[in-house]
Amino acid sequence: MSKHSAGNGVRVTERASRPEWQGSGDDGGHLLELRDLFVEFHTRDGVAKVINGVSYHLDAGETLAVLGESGSGKSVTAQAIMGILDMPPAVIPSGQILYRGTDLLKLSEDERRKIRGKQIAMIFQDALSALNPVFPVGWQIGETLRLREGLSRADSRRRAIELMELVKIPAARQRVRDYPHQFSGGMRQRVMIAMALAQDPAVLIADEPTTALDVTVQAQIMDLLGELRRELNMAMILITHDLGVVADVADRIAVMYAGRIVEHADVHSLYEAPAHPYTKGLLESIPRLDHKGQQLTTIKGLPPNLMRIPSGCPFHPRCPFARQECVDVVPTVHQLGNDRTSACHFAEEVLDGRI
Ligand code: SF4
Repeated sequence: MSKHSAGNGVRVTERASRPEWQGSGDDGGHLLELRDLFVEFHTRDGVAKVINGVSYHLDAGETLAVLGESGSGKSVTAQAIMGILDMPPAVIPSGQILYRGTDLLKLSEDERRKIRGKQIAMIFQDALSALNPVFPVGWQIGETLRLREGLSRADSRRRAIELMELVKIPAARQRVRDYPHQFSGGMRQRVMIAMALAQDPAVLIADEPTTALDVTVQAQIMDLLGELRRELNMAMILITHDLGVVADVADRIAVMYAGRIVEHADVHSLYEAPAHPYTKGLLESIPRLDHKGQQLTTIKGLPPNLMRIPSGCPFHPRCPFARQECVDVVPTVHQLGNDRTSACHFAEEVLDGRI
């Protein structure tokens, strides 16, 4: 394996060729593509339709932010990509998850295990509960390398130090023997990121990576993720409920509501002029430096019960622009130009500010 600099003096292992996944993601196909994915949870109380026809794509080196309130289906979609949904109760009745052209849903559990971590890795919100309190962090970072890559203890420790330096943990050489409780919340999240990067994944899924952290540390972690993505040319799916944290990091945003993508656009277009009333509501609820004297408002009501999704447009009980058509007819996905969509009957009117 060859090495290259990550730009901060640390040398990182260059991604090994992956002969088992021939598609490169730059041969016309996407690196990762979800096509019309449905996920249900079958419970004693009924069937919760959690993902209802989600399609999105990701190319090498770009960041897609998947945004939505709790229960919108954004994390379940990520778990479906990782193959870590408990099945049952989860059922995937239809859809495709294409990674370098291969449908992950058609692979055996053994084949999926080979992809997890090495091709697609994930970090979670709660670093403390994801780390084992009784092992030093360096041991935990190196564990996958010993188990999966056959590295010796000394080599895995060396690599753990490299990874800790890559995620900018100060005095990595000394701290490699420290335990999780000896790190601050932000430093623990850096340890989690180092673990996720151990096998040089092509895709990193970050599920609410900063929610448990205070605002200053949030910004530092987002900066770090942005830098790593650029330096390692890694693709990233950033899952968040907070539109405020994605502006500087994401290339595109997919907004989810009730298990559907209701709007998809590049970050600039979406911030400038949302094309769905739900996105508009989300934007109006965050303070913006470029909107002096802005009145902050919140979206009234709560996300729907996914066992009883409202008729027509699922957002209609909360939408200030809802009309009878919204109650009766499910909106189709409107194409509004280059890679921009909105699932609202009145997408054009919302986009140009008429409603
Ligand atoms: Fe609102 Fe109707 Fe558009 Fe749904 S379709 S977002 S209810 S205006």
